[in-house]
Amino acid sequence: MKITIIAGARPNFIKIAPLIKAIEKKQTEGSKISYRLVHTGQHYDKNLSDTFFEELNIPQPDANLEVKSGSQAEQTAAIMIAFEKELIQNPCDLVLVVGDVNSTMACAIVAKKSNVKVAHVEAGIRSGDMTMPEEINRIVTDSITDYFFTTSTTATDNLIEYGAEVSNIHFVGNVMIDTLYQNLNRILAPTFWDNFGLAKGNYIILTLHRPANVDEEKSLIALLQGIDKMVGDQKIVFPIHPRTKAILGENKLDLKNTILVEPQGYLNFMFLIKNSFAVITDSGGISEETTVLNIPCFTMRNNTERPETQTIGTNTLVGTSIENLEKVYAEFLLNGPRKAGIPELWDGCASERIIEILLKK
Ligand code: UDP
Repeated sequence: MKITIIAGARPNFIKIAPLIKAIEKKQTEGSKISYRLVHTGQHYDKNLSDTFFEELNIPQPDANLEVKSGSQAEQTAAIMIAFEKELIQNPCDLVLVVGDVNSTMACAIVAKKSNVKVAHVEAGIRSGDMTMPEEINRIVTDSITDYFFTTSTTATDNLIEYGAEVSNIHFVGNVMIDTLYQNLNRILAPTFWDNFGLAKGNYIILTLHRPANVDEEKSLIALLQGIDKMVGDQKIVFPIHPRTKAILGENKLDLKNTILVEPQGYLNFMFLIKNSFAVITDSGGISEETTVLNIPCFTMRNNTERPETQTIGTNTLVGTSIENLEKVYAEFLLNGPRKAGIPELWDGCASERIIEILLKK
């Protein structure tokens, strides 16, 4: 079986790393399986791309489509045009896409229209929020996917509700968590750890990059200032996403507790998360990682496509207003963290399950 694996953006790189390891393990055991790795070039900064390839030992891509940034339509179209050519030159039996970025949807469409089977890892998750480009990517991708791999029974149920064939849906667990378990003994403190007097539990990690939180400059600044005031004597470490950085521009921010740093590599970032007091974020992946690491997570969104991080894990949805965050955070300081667990099958073996199942198709 020849598989073409698609990766375009930071969260994709983290998800494909254990899948490639699982394929290589099968190869050493004599299975007839090979892969070709296609990087669409959606994320191309060193900080968001190369570092992850190096740290997670992902082989250099066989092809880089180098699409770079653009509007939603420009980027999606550029990926489709380039990937169609790639697929004609390098035919395969299956295209495997992960997550919910533009590359996921664009390559799934191209594959399906070329009569190539599509496997979607992290299928079926839904926020119900059609203002998120990711939600549209999820729905379109799942509407043409042949083999669905889900992280939760909720995701499986969503797919059944949308009419997917039950025998093609496989609840396998979470490849993002495979990567976490595979690298926990390699995480390390960033070089600025001592310079800023960071120590276990004396800081909060903040990440913000979703349009609803960062696209409006004034409200972004008000939010950052509000969080800075809210935390008392905690520090805030804020690895700033290029999208957010571009919006803040040259603004002088009046922040006493917040330390602005570049987007972190995986090993430094996980060290920072694991040793933090709490996390404030609008990321989906981070709410999964904090759940497994048992770190309180406050998600600055009105919805989540990962409800198990809330019902089982450490995640609390706080909406996008600073007032509500302040209220929820004050309650948390009063009552302490709630008891949380780890969702079913988030055990580090999802990738091996996926490859095992694909080999039988
Ligand atoms: N991440 C990282 N360094 C950072 C911020 C995030 O390594 O500075 C990792 C982290 O593992 C996270 C993943 O990148 O789960 C994806 O984060 P992002 O917020 O970009 O994507 P989302 O999960 O919202 O799709």
